[in-house]
Amino acid sequence: MLKHKYLLGFSLYGALLSAHVCFPQQQDPSPPLFPESKDRINGPLRADTMVREHGPKIALEHVTVFDGSGSPPKLDQTVIIDHEKIVAVGPSRYVTPSSDTKVLDETGKTLLPGLIGMHEHLFYPTAGGFRGQIGMYSEQGNSGPMLYLAVGITTARTAGSINPYLDLNLRKAIESGREAGPDLDVTGPYLEGPPAIQIPVHELTGPEDARRTVDYWHEEGATSFKTYLHITPAELQASIDAAHRYGSKITGHLCSIGFTEAAEMGIDNLEHGIIIDTEFYSKKQPGICPEADAWTREMEQSLEIKDPRVQKMIQTLIEHHVAVTSTLDIFEMGISGEPPIDTLKTTHDAMAAASWDTYMKYRDVQVNRKDNPHTERLLRKEMEFEREFVQRGGLLMAGCDPTGFGGILPGFGDQREMELLVQAGFSPSEAVRIYTSNAAKFLGRQNTIGKIAIGMQADLVLLDGDFEHDASVIRKPELVFKKGLGYDSSRLFAAVRGEAGLR
Ligand SMILES: [Zn+2]
Repeated sequence: MLKHKYLLGFSLYGALLSAHVCFPQQQDPSPPLFPESKDRINGPLRADTMVREHGPKIALEHVTVFDGSGSPPKLDQTVIIDHEKIVAVGPSRYVTPSSDTKVLDETGKTLLPGLIGMHEHLFYPTAGGFRGQIGMYSEQGNSGPMLYLAVGITTARTAGSINPYLDLNLRKAIESGREAGPDLDVTGPYLEGPPAIQIPVHELTGPEDARRTVDYWHEEGATSFKTYLHITPAELQASIDAAHRYGSKITGHLCSIGFTEAAEMGIDNLEHGIIIDTEFYSKKQPGICPEADAWTREMEQSLEIKDPRVQKMIQTLIEHHVAVTSTLDIFEMGISGEPPIDTLKTTHDAMAAASWDTYMKYRDVQVNRKDNPHTERLLRKEMEFEREFVQRGGLLMAGCDPTGFGGILPGFGDQREMELLVQAGFSPSEAVRIYTSNAAKFLGRQNTIGKIAIGMQADLVLLDGDFEHDASVIRKPELVFKKGLGYDSSRLFAAVRGEAGLR
């Protein structure tokens, strides 16, 4: 989630008129009422109906491969899958599939390792609403996992949960093959001190409460934790210690505590980047989250990435092995006209009408904002920070943070984030590494996922086009392999059409 003004910002919509952007009306398939009652008990499992290639032996021939290591792509490759694993990778002229292998000619296409989204959510603000109401979030248990998988996210960390039991039970349903979706690293509920940003979030009452909360959710099955804006230093320390007792990683979207202090306390990961680091604000008081407008404006006007204080902060993160999660797409939402409306056709089709309508009103607010250059310059600064962090050896990961405003939905937001990483100056191979092997390393799963290599789990994304020369090809996923099963992206999208934002 983003800082205060954006989170609260969505409640302004109700008072404003919208200028509609019209896409051709989607066909309503008029499904029968309550179709799930019969189908879900007697019919085929929904996940199975999304699979186009069942294997167990498949060869993808003549494809351009980004292996996830960051090295340049290799042309005209063959990748062979046998059950859940990759068993061969190499030039097509040398790699010959056995006679019982199904061969697919993928000339002109690009193959990436399954993407690992590190700042994903399974909730979304409900449509409508206005200032003064309680902020409400609906769980996207139906559309979220399918959209993530459709774009090629085969592993996702839920990075803060409003309804942890939903995330935990979905993980079971996906693992058992009942539902289609990415493998989930389920993050516990937000560890947040008062004032909690929204009513659904628990307010910690002190370090003992923080420890108790981590203990409880670890026992329930959460495998990661996330701290939030108003947590106190004592609560943060207690949360970190408790999470580490279980070998779990803990991240933070912090405000009351700066990056340097959190790194020294032992946090594993920081979300969003320098754009939310308050430690350089001239009026920062220890343990207090300052007013967002004031410190972001000061940062935009007077803080440079080459500033020795920033350089020292970067050094501290690297020395303490603290990873950073890039979420450029959520900051782009604050710039008028971004993301370009012509990139949102698939988002429009996926969304419930009321949620799209709410988003259009938000875009109107953004178009009329006077401080747009300010937001744009902040985004440029964030991009510069991320390049510098990586250049000096920092571990950068990425995710889309689909917490609102419609321009960022599960999966579609990750496509945009990938494009923005390239716009930020990372090469396509570096952007792929950020979204794959860097995250695998952070998760301690680098021997299983995040790379296209012999022995790795067969998690792969096949894109229809040349991603090296056109980053927008990330928007053309065709087949997504997870543990050797090839899911048809278009079926996944079709299955949740008109659902996003609603359920
Ligand atoms: Zn978030």
